[in-house]
Amino acid sequence: MAGGTVHVVGAGLAGLSAAVGLVGTGGEVIVHELARHAGGRCRSYFEPALGLTIDNGNHLLLSANRAALAFLKAVGSEGKLVGPEHAEFAFADLSSGERWMLRPNDGPVPWWIFSKSRRVPGTRGADYLSMAKLLRVNEDRPIGEIIDCEGVLYERLSRPVLLAALNAEPREASSRLAGAVLRETLVKGGRATRPLVAQDGLGRVFIDPALAFLERSGAKLRFSHQLRRLEFRDERVSVLDFGEDVAKLAPDDTVILAVPAAVAALLAPGLPTPNAFRAIVNAHFKIDPPKSQPKIMGIINGTVEWLFAFPGRLSTTISAADRWIEAPREDLAKKIWADVAAITGISGEMPPWIIVKERRATFAALPDENAKRPQAETQWRNLLLAGDWTATGLPATIEGAIRSGNRAAHLARANGDARG
Ligand SMILES: Cc1cc2nc3c(=O)[nH]c(=O)nc-3n(C[C@H](O)[C@H](O)[C@H](O)COP(=O)(O)OP(=O)(O)OC[C@H]3O[C@@H](n4cnc5c(N)ncnc54)[C@H](O)[C@@H]3O)c2cc1C
Repeated sequence: MAGGTVHVVGAGLAGLSAAVGLVGTGGEVIVHELARHAGGRCRSYFEPALGLTIDNGNHLLLSANRAALAFLKAVGSEGKLVGPEHAEFAFADLSSGERWMLRPNDGPVPWWIFSKSRRVPGTRGADYLSMAKLLRVNEDRPIGEIIDCEGVLYERLSRPVLLAALNAEPREASSRLAGAVLRETLVKGGRATRPLVAQDGLGRVFIDPALAFLERSGAKLRFSHQLRRLEFRDERVSVLDFGEDVAKLAPDDTVILAVPAAVAALLAPGLPTPNAFRAIVNAHFKIDPPKSQPKIMGIINGTVEWLFAFPGRLSTTISAADRWIEAPREDLAKKIWADVAAITGISGEMPPWIIVKERRATFAALPDENAKRPQAETQWRNLLLAGDWTATGLPATIEGAIRSGNRAAHLARANGDARG
């Protein structure tokens, strides 16, 4: 980046990773964020109802998430995601009472599918081969048109895993995105599939270290600074209008728009963006998890889909949760607590709780919506895009958001170098 200023708009993980990739490469980096805090959809905050700092949502990463791990290393937060040494996922079926541990072997040859003690109970090794069809998708069609969305393997593995990864009902979701997820994870073997969680909270692991790194590196961080309008002239952005102040752009300045899809669509007229979204509902209960409770557990045939055990707290996740958005919170909390109590064996009254409904948690990972995702480059020469909803080839995830920020930073540097 030879000299110009890069304005990064949005301090979610996409914006933060773009800024991290740009500091120290020449020009000034300024991050503008609407909220008083960074992190966007991946943040921690103090929740008075519980007297605890919680995350807006339980976030699961996998050891295959190389960009996320590299980001943590760059900001000095390496090793703060915790998980088992080998891939293992505890599951419980609330209908049958069965429990099992899914244990893919480390290497890429998936012999675990032929091991009764490692695979899903009630399945045969050959059942798993059908999933390979998702790796050979040409035209992006709904998963339901590629594989059979029924049977024991589907209900106990394919559906929960794809639902969590895509945040859309797998039957209707993008087979191309499903294939990308499988290719980066299970296909590479257990070593790429170890579950990783920010036990100390997303803020402490991702966001605070990134902000500290950016400050140390000389980036300017401006909170409560909402970009309201872009002015365009001669195929370029010429002005950033923040309402109370404006930034007039010099010829070698660049803008990285790292805001949610709906905001980007308003700011940059004519920009194609996904415009259907899916919700995620999390419930947090203030209670010490039983010592034997695994850190993460997949739940089959329950209202909840995943149960996370944190120090002093049990938290649940429901993906593609639009059907619960209008549900009264107390009713929902009781329903979810019934699942948690059945799984953990905790009796007595429901502990203090909070329900967090993220209505637009991610874009809907459907073939049509996936097709609307734009590249980082735009028709305006100094305007780049970043965000989990851009064309990363991955579903809306931390990994996708960080890769999008890396890509935008790379292009901003390349543009600057070309001019310099
Ligand atoms: C409940 C929940 C659970 C999730 N679970 C997982 C998971 O288990 N694993 C996983 O990998 N991913 C998960 N995700 C997805 C992950 O959180 C997102 O993909 C990622 O955080 C998106 O980052 P982003 O920077 O693209 O967008 P955002 O985080 O939305 O960042 C955009 C930023 O732009 C700011 N902004 C908006 N408008 C303006 C403006 N006009 N001017 C300035 N700033 C503006 C916003 O305030 C925000 O800070 C989950 C998401 C949610 C909501």
